[in-house]
Amino acid sequence: MQYQYESMIRALDEALNAHLAWGRRVFRSALTHTAPGADVLEPAAHEICQLGQWLQSHANLLQTINPHKAKALEAAHRRMHDAIRAIMEQELAGQTVPAAQMDAFEQAQDELIRLLTALKARLITDAIRHDPLTGLPLRYGLEHDFCEFQKACRRNQNAFYLAMIDVDHFKQVNDRLDHQVGDQALRHLARTLRKNIRGNEPIYRFGGEEFVVLLQTRGAEDVQHAAQRLLEAVRTALMPLPQKEPLALSVTIGLTQVQDDDDLSSALQRADQAMYAGKQAGRNRFVLWDAPPQPTLAQRTG
Ligand code: GH3
Ligand code: MG
Ligand code: MG
Repeated sequence: MQYQYESMIRALDEALNAHLAWGRRVFRSALTHTAPGADVLEPAAHEICQLGQWLQSHANLLQTINPHKAKALEAAHRRMHDAIRAIMEQELAGQTVPAAQMDAFEQAQDELIRLLTALKARLITDAIRHDPLTGLPLRYGLEHDFCEFQKACRRNQNAFYLAMIDVDHFKQVNDRLDHQVGDQALRHLARTLRKNIRGNEPIYRFGGEEFVVLLQTRGAEDVQHAAQRLLEAVRTALMPLPQKEPLALSVTIGLTQVQDDDDLSSALQRADQAMYAGKQAGRNRFVLWDAPPQPTLAQRTG
């Protein structure tokens, strides 16, 4: 998911502060018996208030993060406004407000605050799990995703391959141009890779100039085509440089099929060996590294 975490978190804090200010105003007008304003009394108060406007302007994003919680957030906000409107109307008419109405308001507000706090925690978690340079997920979630991907491949009766992708001679890019161009090149490369793998195949920035991709295919032939396509895409996606020749990059890809008894570390180790073999063989290529043959039952029981 691509969004500016920092500005989102800041905007969320502003929305929460706006809600607190709104609450103070409601409280004050209840005690001073004065009208609290349109964002309390109007039937569409939940759309007029600052928090409501924030929810509207971030509706698509909230929907992408978690559609179920986005709906719950909107509903709790509306419930809270409906409850406070009824309370304030009674209060302004000089009537006693039933305790059940206060309960409804407090419950809706508690739910609203709980959902907003959870959203903030989610944004912070997402922020630290994503690489600020390329926007790609970092390796934190890889262990979990690996297990889920393994299950999905088994369910779909597909083969699961792990690819370790390392940029060739990247140190030279930094040395010859400069570190900033190096950063730009990593962003460019991440975009190229992302564009050339399927949407349901996750890609991670694994380390400095290394990326990991999980691939679901029908077998070795498919995965070799996919790797060839990636090599080609990287080779041909030249990065324009001001007053210089465009920058051409290449990568070396180590591939391994993930077996049922593999865990992330054993699969990574083989993919890394495959990648290293590709570097030794001259770079700008892929190497498919098979798992060592499984011991037979007789060998295992010895
Ligand atoms: P090889 O083909 O063997 O992989 O050669 P290489 O030069 O790519 O390998 P090496 O591991 O020696 O160098 C990797 C370089 O990647 C060194 C490091 O400065 C650079 N690098 C790693 N992360 C970043 C980054 O975030 N930005 C920039 N600009 N450079 C980075
Ligand atoms: Mg490397
Ligand atoms: Mg490298």
